[in-house]
Amino acid sequence: MNTREEALALDSADPLASLRDQFALSPTTIYLDGNSLGVPPAAAAQRAQTVIGAEWGEGLIRSWNTAGWFELPRRLGNKLAPLIGAADNEVVVTDTISINLFKLLSAAVRVANARDPKRRVIVSERSNFPTDLYIAQGLIEQLDRGYELRLVDDPSELPTAIGDDTAIAMITHVNYRTGYMHDMAALTKLIHDKGALALWDLAHSAGAVPVDLNGVGADYAVGCTYKYLNGGPGSPAFVWVPKRHQNDFSQPLSGWWGHRAPFKMDPAYQPDDGIGRFLCGTQPMVSMSLVECGLDVFLQTDMQTIRAKSLALTDLFIELVEARCGEFPLKLVTPREHAQRGSHASFEHPHGYEVMQALIARGVIGDYREPHVLRFGFTPLYTRFVDVWDAVETLREVLTQETWRAPEFAARGAVT
Ligand SMILES: *Cc1c(COP(=O)(O)O)cnc(C)c1O
Repeated sequence: MNTREEALALDSADPLASLRDQFALSPTTIYLDGNSLGVPPAAAAQRAQTVIGAEWGEGLIRSWNTAGWFELPRRLGNKLAPLIGAADNEVVVTDTISINLFKLLSAAVRVANARDPKRRVIVSERSNFPTDLYIAQGLIEQLDRGYELRLVDDPSELPTAIGDDTAIAMITHVNYRTGYMHDMAALTKLIHDKGALALWDLAHSAGAVPVDLNGVGADYAVGCTYKYLNGGPGSPAFVWVPKRHQNDFSQPLSGWWGHRAPFKMDPAYQPDDGIGRFLCGTQPMVSMSLVECGLDVFLQTDMQTIRAKSLALTDLFIELVEARCGEFPLKLVTPREHAQRGSHASFEHPHGYEVMQALIARGVIGDYREPHVLRFGFTPLYTRFVDVWDAVETLREVLTQETWRAPEFAARGAVT
């Protein structure tokens, strides 16, 4: 592509273009960080007003029944399910990915142990998002029964790392740093052929790429709603457990919301018969209510249309960065093959942190990940082709004029 007009022409032909109006976007910002925190759906502010004013303010305690609060984790789970190839009553929206991983790994360890107690290894990738690894480490320490976390440095090592000692392979579908995407069907089959259970983290997949959990026969999955699903900062995550595993074992965070009859106030814990047992305690209703506004936008399209635009956006971004910023030390770390690419594109630059701060100061918001990685997320519901063009032009200016060398761009905030 050689001109901005060509990008505008792609926007005119984009079947998703009108959905952008359903987001409260700042007119002066090009937002390429929806993979970290999605933008607010326009409906979210009104929904928050209703939840706080009418449901909380007027309904008060009655709203647990009358506003459907108590059912919300399950109802939103059912609304989210089609986006990830899940069936009704297989998903609940609750807690955080970290907490949900603890629940699922704990249940999966027991399932694996019942099948073959010699299997004591959890396999994952060293490049996985650290909280996934930290939770596995914490659980292993808690179990204190000789479990081990085995980490591979490259996806090609997984077939040998997963062996007859492996209980669970805990794999993040799309890598948070590089955007590398696993072949979920092939890897789930490999994990099963080796006799292990497949636990998938969909943090960078849900709402970003098509996922078919039941189709591939996965065993467990978690994901979050504040990234591509636009649920809001810290909005609750989700848990998927297929019907065949739901009643195998209950998870250890056996709080009253997971009880089969919470208001019987039974002193003995009895898990719910289905997906409800993956709940723990009282959920944050204000935050959870807003998750629905994000999901409602997805109901107006489908993941295939979203995927087609996502690939077109990342293809264009990679092409333009390489064509227009080719003289600078930028190295693509995201796979070029479509089948291996999620919905973001990352480039290494020796001064990646400073370059990103200089971009943000000019209204192009991406983010930075150690070491040296500039990360740009593409969210087809509200990102335009012209945004891609303008973002690359801004990157070119920042690099040509070396504005990133200004001392203020080296200062680090608590969150990068
Ligand atoms: C974003 C992300 C998380 C976040 O976990 P929380 O417990 O929800 O903070 C976890 N895992 C992966 C792979 C992520 O990308």
